[in-house]
Amino acid sequence: MAGVWVYAELADGGPATTALELLTKARDLGEEVSAVALGAGATEAAGPLGEHGAARVFAGDDAVFDDHLAGPRVEALHRLVQEHSPSLILFATSYDSRDVAGRLQARTASTLMSNAADVPSIDRARTAIFGGSKLVDVRLAGPEPRLVLVRPKSFEPQPSGGTAEVVPVPADVPDEAKAARVVERHEEEASGPKLEDAPVVIAGGRGLQEAGNFELLQELAGAIGNAAVGATRAVVDAGWVPYNMQVGQTGVTVKPDLYIAIGISGATQHLVGMRESKRIVAINKDPDAPIFRVADLGVVGDALKILPAVAEKIRAG
Ligand SMILES: Cc1cc2nc3c(=O)[nH]c(=O)nc-3n(C[C@H](O)[C@H](O)[C@H](O)COP(=O)(O)OP(=O)(O)OC[C@H]3O[C@@H](n4cnc5c(N)ncnc54)[C@H](O)[C@@H]3O)c2cc1C
Repeated sequence: MAGVWVYAELADGGPATTALELLTKARDLGEEVSAVALGAGATEAAGPLGEHGAARVFAGDDAVFDDHLAGPRVEALHRLVQEHSPSLILFATSYDSRDVAGRLQARTASTLMSNAADVPSIDRARTAIFGGSKLVDVRLAGPEPRLVLVRPKSFEPQPSGGTAEVVPVPADVPDEAKAARVVERHEEEASGPKLEDAPVVIAGGRGLQEAGNFELLQELAGAIGNAAVGATRAVVDAGWVPYNMQVGQTGVTVKPDLYIAIGISGATQHLVGMRESKRIVAINKDPDAPIFRVADLGVVGDALKILPAVAEKIRAG
């Protein structure tokens, strides 16, 4: 049976937001939609997955899917593919799903398209090229199922109000798929909202001059409240802040209500990860900086002087 499938990652006891985004898109493609959820909480996730458009959820709750790297999940997914022959499988662009999609492609020899920003039809995917300055539609040829890795935040998750039939996935996985075992999990300590979910993102670039000045951004985030701090690749590469703070083509895509770009030139690779923010404020001492072309409000000046004054003003109410 053909159909569009979503490989639904699980997070914090429920489906990841990216799974709901992909289902919202999948139900526009005119085929029956199913989701595959493997790991603790998979069966319970069928509720929200159904509400977002999955008619069927293949759910495997067994610990084997969490205790190993992608091997057991790929094994189970490949068996389901052989049994049900979907036309298209959508994955989120994340470390985990990239691993699963790549390994599945090695077994199916079908087309794997990465970094998609949209899926206009069952045999097409849209992606940005030339550093995000051009969008192209790519025709997905070759044997089914076509596999597409879609950038997070490409679609707004919208419930459609359905319920899903749950199809249990057996956990009998051969030993060779269990070769790599997860021995430890480390949660990055974080205060405040996640970069991807924050309604306000304050991002800094090389214009902040040195790593210590990111403290000014943290202070501003604290003064505003419910805000996360992001960065450009230039400062991540310089080791000023960790990689998980990078916004852009090779980092996180954000679409907050407000994006404040501080000391950021506005390279296309950065813009591609933030240009769809609802409002953009830029502070840069160069009046010709490209970031001003996408900004709703531009402030020309020295960020190191402006930032403390703004934080002070906000705190004073
Ligand atoms: C394949 C590829 C992928 C990439 N992916 C990404 C990505 O995901 N994300 C990303 O961000 N980049 C990415 N890049 C890098 C990108 O091309 C730029 O090099 C980078 O975004 C520049 O970072 P920046 O704006 O911090 O630094 P710069 O371009 O050096 O800009 C610094 C800005 O600070 C301003 N400034 C200086 N002093 C002050 C001050 N005191 N007050 C106010 N303003 C000041 C300057 O006028 C300047 O505009 C990628 C590049 C490639 C080739």
